[in-house]
Amino acid sequence: MIQPISRMGNPVLREVAQNISKEYLLTDEFCQLLVDMKDSMDHYGGIGIAAPQIGVSLQVALIELMGFNRYGQEVNLPLTTFINPTLTSLDEDLQGFWEGCLSVPNLRGYVERPRKIQVNYWNEQGEPQQLIAEGFLATVLQHELDHLFGILYVDRIKDTKLFSFQEEYDSFIQNPKALE
Ligand code: ZN
Repeated sequence: MIQPISRMGNPVLREVAQNISKEYLLTDEFCQLLVDMKDSMDHYGGIGIAAPQIGVSLQVALIELMGFNRYGQEVNLPLTTFINPTLTSLDEDLQGFWEGCLSVPNLRGYVERPRKIQVNYWNEQGEPQQLIAEGFLATVLQHELDHLFGILYVDRIKDTKLFSFQEEYDSFIQNPKALE
């Protein structure tokens, strides 16, 4: 079921979400949470969603990037559930992308993050998984996992001149040639 999105200012977005036990994975409540997250992500048009964004302070996030082409990069990740994830940086070099967030609607900001990372997590069956990601997918993963630790992308904007409303981003930043 589609749930309302928690927006910036809602304290649930600032909590460190709780770890999930193996027993809880088997509950109807958890299955329903995953369905609600997927329904909400699809409805609001996100490429990822974390449980706190629908008001549930638990360590789970979904990402689905299929045929996603942005900034000239083709990225594919079928719908994946990240439970109790931990993140390790594999490259100290940073890369920057303009990020947006369902919880911070109608805004975009330029954020630099490590370009290559490793994520260890459980799948829905509680089996340990590992994913190594770089480029845009690495940024998406870091953005979503930040939500599980009370961090929003706006906290990571170093230069607030690179923070924009979506419409102005579309007009002046993403497509400057449109002004010529
Ligand atoms: Zn977000």
